[in-house]
Amino acid sequence: MPVEEMTPGVARLRTLIANIYLVGSPGGPWALVDTGTPGNGPRIRDAAEQRFGRGARPEAILLTHGHWDHAGSALDLAAYWDVPIYAHRLERPYLTGKSAYPPKDPMAGGAFSFLSRFFPSTTVDLGERLCDLPEGGDVPGLAGWRWHFTPGHAPGHVAFFQREDSVLLAGDACITMDLDSAMGIVAQEPVISRPPAPFTYDWDPAQRSVELLAELRPMVIGAGHGEPMSGRAVAVGLADLARDFPRPRGRYATEPARTDETGVTFLPPPASDPLPKIAATAGLAAVALGAVVVLSKKQKPGASPAAGVTPD
Ligand SMILES: [Zn+2]
Ligand SMILES: [Zn+2]
Repeated sequence: MPVEEMTPGVARLRTLIANIYLVGSPGGPWALVDTGTPGNGPRIRDAAEQRFGRGARPEAILLTHGHWDHAGSALDLAAYWDVPIYAHRLERPYLTGKSAYPPKDPMAGGAFSFLSRFFPSTTVDLGERLCDLPEGGDVPGLAGWRWHFTPGHAPGHVAFFQREDSVLLAGDACITMDLDSAMGIVAQEPVISRPPAPFTYDWDPAQRSVELLAELRPMVIGAGHGEPMSGRAVAVGLADLARDFPRPRGRYATEPARTDETGVTFLPPPASDPLPKIAATAGLAAVALGAVVVLSKKQKPGASPAAGVTPD
């Protein structure tokens, strides 16, 4: 997996599902932002050594949020490097096995919502490695960077911003590909888009988070999903998304899940999902058709169709 430099102080490592960022200039202190799905540890270590030299070890691992595709390899890496993992304190219940995230909603609308049925909504238990990000916005290990509270997609979601280079690591507060269309998923054309819909449980703060990121007017953006973008398109795209923020259908369309520092405290009822019924009906039809085919093959030559349904 290649490491691509976005700015002199930020490189992106692309994995199959989510992006990982190596933050800091070669020769200086650095930190890892997000860790991909489980099993990416060796590849991330290789990428870090490629960029920072043999034996490279970060100051810290920083998580934008705790979803499986961002926190999956955090514990392996933290143990290997013997470093802390920082996340917002409101992510703690989901990263220590105390609470599940609000359930995904395959009825939220768009292509990825449909596909989300095949994605896990579990996450990892980071135990004692997990530390709370310090109040106030300082980022451990990264001078010049600030974290910004951007909830809505996850209860304690944060984005990281460095003003000097005007670079934003947005996590899933917004992403740079259109997961709502099948073409967008396949082509991955860079476009600033709403957070992944089926895993977003509270859409008012999700919109306010995009407004906050738009006010930062970044020149470079790297998100959890999609290609990094730079130039005027970044600020324009964020402003457009903040102004015209697509709302979902489904479970969380009118009422969010509620959460606090202990985890999920309230869930609206699930939206009715016709797919399992359709699939079950299709499955039954396929079984019935299969039975007819099997039995008709067993039928003796010249036997009547009615005789075919009676096993020999
Ligand atoms: Zn996420
Ligand atoms: Zn994600």
